[in-house]
Amino acid sequence: MGKTTGFMEYERIDEGYEPVDQRLKNYKEFVIALDDEQARIQGARCMDCGTPFCNSGCPVNNIIPDFNDLVYHQDWKSAITVLHSTNNFPEFTGRICPAPCEAACTLNINDDPVGIKSIEHAIIDRAWEEGWVKPQPASRKTGKKVAVIGAGPAGMAAAQQLARVGHDVTLFEKNDRIGGLLRYGIPDFKMEKTHIDRRAEQLAAEGVKIRTGVFVGAAKDGLGKDSKVTNWAKETVTPEALKKEFDAVLLTGGAEQSRDLPVPGRDLDGIHFAMEFLPQQNKINAGDKLKGQIRADGKHVIVIGGGDTGSDCVGTSNRHGAASVTQFELMPMPPSRKTSPSCGPTGPTSCAPLQAMKRAASANSRLPPRNSSARRARSPRSRPCASK
Ligand SMILES: Cc1cc2nc3c(=O)[nH]c(=O)nc-3n(C[C@H](O)[C@H](O)[C@H](O)COP(=O)(O)OP(=O)(O)OC[C@H]3O[C@@H](n4cnc5c(N)ncnc54)[C@H](O)[C@@H]3O)c2cc1C
Ligand code: SF4
Repeated sequence: MGKTTGFMEYERIDEGYEPVDQRLKNYKEFVIALDDEQARIQGARCMDCGTPFCNSGCPVNNIIPDFNDLVYHQDWKSAITVLHSTNNFPEFTGRICPAPCEAACTLNINDDPVGIKSIEHAIIDRAWEEGWVKPQPASRKTGKKVAVIGAGPAGMAAAQQLARVGHDVTLFEKNDRIGGLLRYGIPDFKMEKTHIDRRAEQLAAEGVKIRTGVFVGAAKDGLGKDSKVTNWAKETVTPEALKKEFDAVLLTGGAEQSRDLPVPGRDLDGIHFAMEFLPQQNKINAGDKLKGQIRADGKHVIVIGGGDTGSDCVGTSNRHGAASVTQFELMPMPPSRKTSPSCGPTGPTSCAPLQAMKRAASANSRLPPRNSSARRARSPRSRPCASK
């Protein structure tokens, strides 16, 4: 484990944020990663529990106590080896994962959980800086051809694993760049797209053939003519053609369909899906020219939904220079005090507005100062007991 008494000696250190007035001027990431010493102290807080709930709380089962210990001992190279053993792209999760591992951390019963996500962020950023992230081409080929349809994080990770065991992999993507909703959805201020580009280069060096602008599906109107799902394909490949050419086909197309709100007035001007609004800004940030971009400059904006997507719309509207932004959320506010220890550690319920705002997106989030007792009490991880 980190330091035997670390959890009693050290407080949680949260990652810093660029000041609001600065970050409003651009679309760059504004979370400031922990430095080596801060990460070491976070690692020292890990108790290496007999049953590490964090490990099962993490959707990719990251081996968290092991990399916490390695960071405490400043063995960063071994830490990235452990982290990469379960997670192809820790720079994605270290930036945008909602960190259910931290909700599951045993320390969360009566204290602030270990800052696991910030440690993950620090490990992978250090690994890239040091040049430790390298292509791992297969040492032998199987001669089998696999098509992966959809180049979001799921498709990218699957393509990488399949290529590394020697298959001949082609990754198909209907849009003009890979990355899925990380590329066209999540704003750059939460995750800059160079992280995806670097991984695309790694995939190519490992032998993955990347075919962008190719829609896989029915030759005509594969998505239906009224679909609002982004599709910038210039070419269509039918499933029949794929089946002839490949030994196996993997479907990693995600879930892009927006949920509509069928209420009177929905068809009025100026009402848009988030996923019409956000990808346009991603494209502009990438240097593309766009006619008729949906802009919020000088407008009074209403955002319906207080999760990540809603929060991203708040942050983007503020960067456009909206006159005001008002956000509506169906869920009640989280409790004002941390609730009974009998509630945890288990998986989180998303106390969405606070969680999403705290996690990054909104430039006009209003939370108590870092490390204040009020902030701890209002932590999104404080949640009502399921039974009450
Ligand atoms: C605005 C927004 C904010 C979000 N914020 C967060 C966050 O903060 N934290 C978090 O953890 N998650 C967040 N998410 C969710 C996260 O982005 C998704 O869970 C994740 O991207 C899903 O990955 P995926 O690979 O399964 O699918 P996707 O990312 O949807 O990728 C699927 C890809 O398949 C392609 N595709 C689909 N069908 C075809 C076809 N027929 N032919 C060719 N290509 C096809 C699509 O174009 C797309 O590129 C957010 C999502 C959105 C929209
Ligand atoms: S931040 Fe997400 S990916 Fe990273 S360890 Fe926690 S749950 Fe797993």
